[in-house]
Amino acid sequence: MYTPLATKYRPQRFADVVGQDFTVKVLTKAIQKNRIGAALLFSGTRGVGKTTLARVLSKALRCENRQDSEFEPCCKCESCRSFSKDNQIDVIEIDAASNTGVDDVREIIESCRYKPTTGKYKIFIIDEVHMLSKSAFNALLKTLEEPPEYVKFLLATTETYKIPETILSRVLRFDLKNVEHDVIVQYLSSVCNQEKISADLSVLSLIARAASGSIRDSLSILDQAINVADDGRLTLKNVQEMLSVSNDEDLTDLFELITSSKLQDAVLRYRQLSDKGTSAQTIVSRFMDYVHLLSCLKVGVTPFEQIVSESMQSRFQSLADKISISALSVLWQMLIKCTDELKLCDKAASVFEMMIIRLAHASEFPDLREIIKKFDQSPAISNTSEPKQSEDSLLSEALKMFPNAIVKN
Ligand SMILES: [Zn+2]
Repeated sequence: MYTPLATKYRPQRFADVVGQDFTVKVLTKAIQKNRIGAALLFSGTRGVGKTTLARVLSKALRCENRQDSEFEPCCKCESCRSFSKDNQIDVIEIDAASNTGVDDVREIIESCRYKPTTGKYKIFIIDEVHMLSKSAFNALLKTLEEPPEYVKFLLATTETYKIPETILSRVLRFDLKNVEHDVIVQYLSSVCNQEKISADLSVLSLIARAASGSIRDSLSILDQAINVADDGRLTLKNVQEMLSVSNDEDLTDLFELITSSKLQDAVLRYRQLSDKGTSAQTIVSRFMDYVHLLSCLKVGVTPFEQIVSESMQSRFQSLADKISISALSVLWQMLIKCTDELKLCDKAASVFEMMIIRLAHASEFPDLREIIKKFDQSPAISNTSEPKQSEDSLLSEALKMFPNAIVKN
């Protein structure tokens, strides 16, 4: 029977949780010391492992074989096994998105009056808790503060700021971070090994990028990718097509248009790529890879991952010959700025087009060294009797005044 990878590889123990080392460390220490609070809140973007951690924690707390000094659930006892069968009577999972009202919360409070049917703890996992109505939160407040000793509340949210302060001050918070790119790549690689699927790092890196920090999304994308694999082999072309990601040739074309200040062509090319389904976020993230690669080529070091396929290497080498280190550093700063703007503003296409215009403009900035030369040669300056400063000392003076100015090599 087919089981989605995200289900098949769902962590069963703390050791299986990927990319949340700090939270896992704090939780496991707290379990060993028997100091898990009555109410915990897991926050973070979708798919980073909030409910997964809540489930593993519930499993550990209710495990019949776990000794006080241990933190991992045994995965063998009756209670542990009922988790894998989704058959837990004393762990109640509630989706607050569809149970937002005060009556839903009253049901929870009523249920708190009864001890667990087996084991030490009755646990409520409330997902998307920020969706509860104001009156529902108020009803929950008192129970959250002083629940019966056998009750634990594990709350999860993607939007902490929508939760009232009164609730936040009564819970122990764990802010889960987006899983790092390299950690996802490494994880996908181990899953591919277990699934007997072969995939280059460039393919896994593409999937990791598309998953934007979410392990669950990365597994779902890998699942889809396996459907389009050729004889158990994931190819970059198939995965790019599947993700509607433009290939590197198209993106490099756009990159060249921008860096050679062909504004109009650059905007039109961007619109074509956007129509094909490539998001501004994807392009910016890929451009950052390009700038990193080009900078590495300029200073003669190998980047820590293979950023573009071998067939593209020579094209990047000739790009590196054309662009100066200072222009690359300006590009890098602007791409970072654009990443922030894309997060803040919902008009991604406008943000990106504005960046194209600014970038093209930036590469036209005059070179500070050139300005100094011209200034130095002007009759008004060369006729003065003042002793002349060397070009380098003038340059360093000028850089103090204009730290963001461009100095070409
Ligand atoms: Zn157990």
